[in-house]
This record gives sequence, C-alpha cells and structure tokens, in this order.
Amino acid sequence: MNKKIWLSPPHMGGSEILYVKNACDANWVAPIGPCIDGFEDDLSRFLGGSVGVAALSAGTAAIHMALIVLGVKAGDEVICQSLTFAASANPIVYQGAIPVFVDSEEQTWNMSPHLLEEAIKDRIAKGKTPKAIVIVHLFGMPGRMAEIVEISKKYEIPLIEDAAEALGSTYGSKKLGTFGDIGILSFNGNKIITTSAGGALIAENSELVARARFLATQAKENLPYYQHNNIGYNYRMSNICAGIGRGQMEILSLRIFQRRRNFYNYKRLLSSIPGISFQEEMSTDYFSNRWLTTILIEPGNENLNNENLRLFLEKSNIEARRIWKPLHLQPIFEQYPAYVNGISEKIFDKGLCLPSGSSLTDYELNKVVKRIATFFDV
Ligand SMILES: *Cc1c(COP(=O)(O)O)cnc(C)c1O
Repeated sequence: MNKKIWLSPPHMGGSEILYVKNACDANWVAPIGPCIDGFEDDLSRFLGGSVGVAALSAGTAAIHMALIVLGVKAGDEVICQSLTFAASANPIVYQGAIPVFVDSEEQTWNMSPHLLEEAIKDRIAKGKTPKAIVIVHLFGMPGRMAEIVEISKKYEIPLIEDAAEALGSTYGSKKLGTFGDIGILSFNGNKIITTSAGGALIAENSELVARARFLATQAKENLPYYQHNNIGYNYRMSNICAGIGRGQMEILSLRIFQRRRNFYNYKRLLSSIPGISFQEEMSTDYFSNRWLTTILIEPGNENLNNENLRLFLEKSNIEARRIWKPLHLQPIFEQYPAYVNGISEKIFDKGLCLPSGSSLTDYELNKVVKRIATFFDV
C-alpha cells in the first residue's frame, strides 16, 4: 500500500526535542516552567509585541476562559459564527449561556457583518443584548475585520476572535488574534504549528490575561493556605508541550510559506478543471496562512460531488475531509437561535479540504492532483 497522504499532519522542525530534553534535564516536567514563559514571549513577539499571552491546555480551554473573563454567565446570549468547528461554540454551552448562530458571507466564508448587525438588533429588540461575539477565521482566511470590529464597538459587545486556524494570517498590517478584545489560538496536532495539544489566550488588556492565568491555575488566592474565592480550572499548558511550541515557533514563517505554496500549486494545477473554485483572498488586505486548501465543487453532474471525490481519494490512501457542518444544523445546537442566509450550507454542500500539510511533497501534491483529474475525467 502507498504511504498515506494525510490532511494536516504534525511537522517538527528539529529543535523541539532540545527544548524538551532541557526541560526534562532541569526537571521542569510540570504545568509551570521556563518553556511556558518563553513560549508566551515568542508568541507575543510574533503577534506584534504589545499583546499579553497565556498558554493553555487547548484552544477550547482558551475560548472557555475568554468567555469567563468577559463575564459571560448562565442565561446570557453569545453570538457565534455558524460555519466552524463545534469547539468554537461548546464553551458557550459549558457556561450555561445560549449560542446565537450567524451565517457566513460568500467571499471570506466567515461571519457576515450584515447578518451580524441584523442579529444584534433583533436580540436587543427582544431584550437580550448579546454578551460577546465569537468570530472565526476559517482555514486561516481573515474575516471581514474592519466591519466586524466596527459593529462590536458600535454596540459595545466584546469580540472574541477564534484564530485557532489562523496563526500567522494578517488583515491589513495586523496579525489575526489581535483584533478582538480577546483572541485564541490552538496548537492541536493538526494545526499549522503544534504542541501536541495546547492553546493560547491573547489580549491587549493585561488584566484579562492575568485573570485567565489565575483562573486556569485553579484560582488559588495568594495566601499561605489554600483559599478559593472563585471556581478554578486546570487549563494551564504543560512545560513539556511549551518546549515543543518553542521549537515550532522557530520555523513558523517557513510553515506559512509551505502551506501557501500548497495552495498556489493546487490552484495552478487544478485550474483547468471546470467547476472547481477556491477560497480567495478578497484584496491585498487579506493574507491567509492557508492552513488548509479548500475547494468548492460546482457539480457538472450529480455524481461529481464533494463526498464522492472524498471517497475516491480515500481509495488511493489520500485523506481529504469535508468542510465543517454549520453549527445551526447540528443536533446539539439546532434548538438555538440562528440568523442564516444559506451560504454556510452551500459551502458545506460543495466544499472539500485537500491534503495541506507543510510536509506535503511535490510528488504527493501531484498525486492528489492527478487523482482529482481522473475523478473529473479530464
Ligand atoms: C481546532 C479548533 C478549535 C479547538 O482547539 P483545540 O486546541 O483543539 O481545543 C477551536 N476552533 C477552531 C475553529 C478550531 O479549528
């Protein structure tokens, strides 16, 4: 059997093991230690230097912390992009709060600013001003940040940026994750860089970051005995994971280059196939890290669809995956309010994520392209 071509496998740079060895030698095998401080500094510097960063156990934990430090409580409403991974919205439900889903717009595939404002106005008219907005940058593509930030300011509703897929993407001259009141990142095994499992919370406001660190470390008061005035969480990143992260930060720019190269090669080589289109950067303001290259298929006939292509590639040991199913269609979320326009459903029905790892070789990418061409019989 041919070697499997994965969607987005981990890709070590080489120095991760040195950080981990140093951590083990110094006995920093704990959720505290120099790699955590170093990794937070690395991230802060990469993001532009003026933000605080708290390294946490997962991106999901970071979203949960973001909601808590912004004061989201049981019964509150939180607006969330519908076209995303369930982890964007699950923490809203952990808080006993109510997710209100907002659909996407065609160009970026991310939250429609128009529909966002409509949703906010409608919730306010119903006496329920949303407590926060969770916007997502799908597959690394920046959302319409100028409009989204303006709406968040206009209605004074804090913005949480789920940049789990978008480390290294920029909008204008600013890195994604730094536009919201709080940004979050993920370093899960499939993301552009990984710590095996991990995440981070980002904020300009250092008090929010300090609060998140405190709550994520069991909320122990600064007293000689164990005093707890708040419910705490065990959400800190391990120093060993942070060591992997420090090594990964050394090659992050190269990883962005490699992922973007995948996109350009797919686009160039698949352009002759009618009916295939890509998630495009709308203007020079938009710079995607191209975490995953995703295509939309306009079927020439009903058999030439995304699911059949996925199965066809699987037979050649190539892993492609469907695009996130919109959350407003999920059994766990369908009872919640949703403001929809059909766009996320269309993207779900037509979309497919192609193998996009930074370690993907030219040979492998060409093999994927050839199989796709065979499927479409061109
Ligand atoms: C991966 C991901 C998360 C969750 O991050 P974890 O580190 O796996 O908990 C959240 N939102 C989006 C959009 C993601 O892709």
